[in-house]
Amino acid sequence: MMSARDGSGDMDRAAGAPPIDILLIHPPAVKPAEPPLGTAVLLSRLRGRGVRAEAVDANLEAYLHLLDGPRIEAAAGASPPTALHRAARNVSRSLAFLRSLPAAGSFRRYVSAVRHLDAGLSAYRGESGSERLTLGDYAHGGLSEFSPADLARVASGGESTLFSPYFRNDLLPRIARMRPRAVAISVHYRHQVLPAFELAGMVRAALPGTRLYGGGGMFSSWKNALLRSGLRLPAFDGIGFGPGETVLSFLVAGGFADAGYHLEAGGEVEFHPDYGFAPLPDYLSPEPVLPVASSRGCYYRKCAFCPEGVAPTHPYAESDPATFPDLLLDMARKYGVRRFHLTDNAIPVRVLRSVAERGERLRGISWHGFARFGRELLDPGFAASLAASGCSMLQLGLESGSQALLDRMGKGTRVEEASAILRNLSRAGIDAYVYVMLGAPGETERDAERTHSFLSEHAGEIGFLNLSILNLPRDAAFADRGGDGSTAGGEPRGEDDPLGLYRPIPESGGWGRAQARRFLRRRLLCDPAIRAIAARTPPWFTSNHAFFFRRGAAQAP
Ligand code: SF4
Repeated sequence: MMSARDGSGDMDRAAGAPPIDILLIHPPAVKPAEPPLGTAVLLSRLRGRGVRAEAVDANLEAYLHLLDGPRIEAAAGASPPTALHRAARNVSRSLAFLRSLPAAGSFRRYVSAVRHLDAGLSAYRGESGSERLTLGDYAHGGLSEFSPADLARVASGGESTLFSPYFRNDLLPRIARMRPRAVAISVHYRHQVLPAFELAGMVRAALPGTRLYGGGGMFSSWKNALLRSGLRLPAFDGIGFGPGETVLSFLVAGGFADAGYHLEAGGEVEFHPDYGFAPLPDYLSPEPVLPVASSRGCYYRKCAFCPEGVAPTHPYAESDPATFPDLLLDMARKYGVRRFHLTDNAIPVRVLRSVAERGERLRGISWHGFARFGRELLDPGFAASLAASGCSMLQLGLESGSQALLDRMGKGTRVEEASAILRNLSRAGIDAYVYVMLGAPGETERDAERTHSFLSEHAGEIGFLNLSILNLPRDAAFADRGGDGSTAGGEPRGEDDPLGLYRPIPESGGWGRAQARRFLRRRLLCDPAIRAIAARTPPWFTSNHAFFFRRGAAQAP
C-alpha cells in the first residue's frame, strides 16, 4: 500500500510534468482516521471523464506534520507541562502503535496512545495563543467560522491559523509545482472552515492565475444565506452547492471560464471512489478502513431536528442495491482492505437486503454504518444475515426514549420496536452504537427520565453510546411546533453571524439546554450501567474505531 512517508503519493510529481486541470483538496481539521470519501468520488468521476485531476488529503498531512516530537517540543516552549513533555517523547511510538493491529487488542494501551497524541496537539496554540486542535476538532478563540468578516481576515492573511506553517512550507510549494488550472477545496465540517479559507487565500496569493472553487456540505448549508444576502466569500471564484460531480465536470468542460459565482449542481453523483491519492497506512487507525456510500442524502427525510429533514443539501440519490456488494468486493481487492465504513445518513433498506443476501460472497469483509430503527430489523433472521455479511456495528439514532417526543420529532420510530431491534442485533453479534440527544424543543424532564429508563434497561444490548445536546438547524420548524402548546420560535442563533447554522432553543416549562446538560451529567452518566458504556467508547475517534473494540470481538472481521 502507498504511504505518504515513502513519497509515492499521486501529488509528488516530477518537475517539468505537464500542468494538471484540477487539484482537489480536503483541508484540516477532521479526524484523520480514514481517507475522505467526498474527494475520492469527485476524483473518480473527473478521471473517468479524462480530466487530469489530482487530490490531496491535506487534513491527514497537516496532522502528521504537527504530530512530530521535535516540532511539538519547539511549540511547547522551554518549560512545558509534564503531560506535554511526556507526549512529545511518546508521540512517534504512539502514532506507530495506533496504526498497528495490536492497538485493537488492548483498549488500555489504545487509550494511552490516543491521549499522548491529543496532548501533543495541545502544544499548538497559534500566533494568537487562542487556537485549539484536538484529534477531532479545531477552534480559533478569536475568530468565528460563521462570520464573513473573520473569513475575509483569515483569507487575506490578516489572521493566521496553526496550520499556516504546513500550508506555506509544505503544501503550497507542491501545489505550485503541479501548476493546476483550478483548485477545489471541499469543506464539510465547521472545523475545516477557517483553515480552508486561509489555504484558499494563500493559493490565491501564490498562484494568481489559478481558479479557486469551494464546495462540500458546509458551503451547501450556507446556500440560502448566501443567495439571500448576495454575499461573496473571499478568495473563491465560485461556490458549488450540492454534489460536486456536476459542477466540476461543467467547469472543466468550459475551460474554467466564468460561469457565475453561485454554481448550482445537477443530480449527477458518483458512488465508486478512487483512493489512489490516499496513503492508506498513514491514517490513524489500527487497520485501514475505507469509507463508501450507497446513497446520498437521506431516504427518510422527515426528522424535524435534522438538516437532512429540514434543509437537505443534496437531492437524494441511491446506488444500485444489486451491485453494491460488488463495489465492496472491488474495493477490497483493489486496495487490499477488509474494513468498510458505510457513510450513508441511513443505509437504504434495499441495500441492507442486498448485502444480507450476498453474505457468503462477502465473507472476510467487515462493515458498519448508520441504519434506522426500521421494521426489517425486527426479524431476527435478517439481523443474523446482516451479521453473516460482515456487519460488525450499526449506528442507530434512538434520540429519545419518549414516544411522545419521538412522534413530535417526526422520527418514525416506535420505542417498543427499538427494544426488540436492540435485542435482535445483540443476539446476532452486531454491536449497536446508539445516539441519544437531550434538549429538544418541548422536551420535559419526564421525557428525559424515559430516555434514562430505556438506556438503563437496554444497557446490556448497547455496545456504544453517543449522548449529546441537540443543536437545532436554523431552518427547523420543530421549535415552532412547541411541545406543550408554547410558541417557541426564536431568531437564528448569532444574528451577527449570517452564516450560522443553528437557532436557539427556548426553555419551556422550566426545561431547556442547561437542565438537559445537567441531566446528562448527573443522571445519565451517574448511572453505572450507562457510565460503563460511555467508558468503552474510544476517545476522540468514537464510532470510527468503536468496531475494533466490539464486546467479545476478535481482531478478525
Ligand atoms: S435523523 Fe437520520 S433518518 Fe432522520 S432525516 Fe436525519 S438522516 Fe434521515
